[in-house]
Amino acid sequence: MTPTINADRLWQSIMAIAEIGAIPGNGSCRMALTPEDTAARALFIGWCQELGLGHEQDAIGNQFLRRAGTDASAKAVAFGSHLDTVPTGGRFDGVAGVLAGLEVLRALDDAGVKTRAPLELVNWMNEEGSRFRPAMMGSRVAAGTFRLADALAITDDDGISVAQALAESGQAGPLTPAPRDWSAWLELHIEQGPVMEATGADIGVVVGTMHARYFQLSVIGEPSHVGPTEMGRRHDSLAAAAEIILAVEKIGRAAEPDGRASASWIENIPNARGNVSHLTRLHCDVRHTDAAAAVAMEQTLRAVLSDIERRRGVRIEIDPYTTFGPILFDQRLGSLIRRKAADRQLTTRDMVAAAGHDSVLMAPLVPTAMLFVPSVGGITHNPKEYSTPAQLAHGAQVLLDAVLALAG
Ligand SMILES: [Zn+2]
Repeated sequence: MTPTINADRLWQSIMAIAEIGAIPGNGSCRMALTPEDTAARALFIGWCQELGLGHEQDAIGNQFLRRAGTDASAKAVAFGSHLDTVPTGGRFDGVAGVLAGLEVLRALDDAGVKTRAPLELVNWMNEEGSRFRPAMMGSRVAAGTFRLADALAITDDDGISVAQALAESGQAGPLTPAPRDWSAWLELHIEQGPVMEATGADIGVVVGTMHARYFQLSVIGEPSHVGPTEMGRRHDSLAAAAEIILAVEKIGRAAEPDGRASASWIENIPNARGNVSHLTRLHCDVRHTDAAAAVAMEQTLRAVLSDIERRRGVRIEIDPYTTFGPILFDQRLGSLIRRKAADRQLTTRDMVAAAGHDSVLMAPLVPTAMLFVPSVGGITHNPKEYSTPAQLAHGAQVLLDAVLALAG
């Protein structure tokens, strides 16, 4: 019996997770290590236990679910994604990849298929980075590019550390985070863009990622009274930040279609009605398919910042706290996905990932591939995020077929 994805079961599982932390308009809010995220993890682990999977968890909260193979010495074929969401999350970002992976294992059980190599399903901790930055925290620590101790010390906007959140949610496992001994890593994800829908592609074969450069900016002005202080005497950090935000947008527009730039977070001090602001913190990023072009975007940004400093008499501290990519994914695995899609009469299209993904961290360590399923209207990080049951099932089936080919 050929293992076949049960589209309805996959859909029902995604909907069941979506009920946890549900927000108006069919969205979900399950920021990392909140009670909602913890509840979703528990439901997921319960489903895995029904399949008799081995469960390991590391000290940063990554979850590894293992299905034994017939050859205990063979390296595992691994796949998965993340269950955490942004505050205005949809039902599919990350969740689709974890639950498609679960459906792969369920379908293998249904068909009574034992693979030669073991299979490992993964839920990475804090992929989104909405509560604790940087994003992709769990996979960074597991990959060894971010020290566990440094990650544990990171705090959210309420001053709660990752260590404290892990302890309180019971999500700190006994395992020391480290690269796992895998033969391949595969991640199914929604496209989060409009290209596949517009071109009628069923499966996106992600050949690599953009190069992204992230900055935390501190605009430092001087506090004063909004009444007596003449306009010319002000060193208004909020007004300077407003200029920066529009400049970042302009840099992004100029870099289309292959580049993007965003300012997406702001903190204003004292944020008081009678005060000219004196400290405004901004988060922004620039990204491009071509790394040199992303560096050029950063140079433009820096030039804009020094111009604003000079004109407005403010100081701007730039913390270029992280980068990712560009990553090229494994070409052999990309070809395998193309072939398996064609076997199912599904059309493919090569894609470049514009968002960060855990796969970016895995790619230097293990042959890595990502496959996209279409996002209706290209909408994401929004309750309106949607992929159809059929689109998700097609993606899961290609994932299953690829896993079988790799695991034997
Ligand atoms: Zn995601």
